[in-house]
Amino acid sequence: MDITECEGYKNLLAAIERDEKRQSRVHDLRGKLAWVIARAEHYGEKTGLNPSDILNAWERHRSYWYMNYYQDANQPEIKDGNVKVFESIADAKASIGQPQYRCPRCKGVSSDPYNCNASSKCNWTSFGLFGAMGKGVYVYIKKELRGQEMFMPLAWENQKSTVENL
Ligand SMILES: [Zn+2]
Repeated sequence: MDITECEGYKNLLAAIERDEKRQSRVHDLRGKLAWVIARAEHYGEKTGLNPSDILNAWERHRSYWYMNYYQDANQPEIKDGNVKVFESIADAKASIGQPQYRCPRCKGVSSDPYNCNASSKCNWTSFGLFGAMGKGVYVYIKKELRGQEMFMPLAWENQKSTVENL
């Protein structure tokens, strides 16, 4: 199926067309649409999933403006060890092993992958403006069609491979 036939594409295009009717052209809305399609196809290529399914899931979970939702921080390119792909959450958990994650701020070991609990003075969260400050990892779960940034598990600190179980 062509990606422009999927629900996710139609939903996104409708949102763009609504904006085009009432806004001056301060944002490159069509450029963003092209970026989203290219990124969905890139994810399809790297994971073996159907790009339409990937875009449908992104649109289903999108709760704010597409211009902010679609960007490298939220749907990073799958390359250079910054993204790890797993079939399921169980597979990712098995690879992580002990719940030990490196906090990018205090460098301590947190048992929570998003909120540092290594030190009572830190309280860094990977959802903050700076995410994991380039020292975390983005994990994409094929079965869920979703990905998220988290602190780097200690088990992966010295690994380089990007795509597992493929
Ligand atoms: Zn910390």
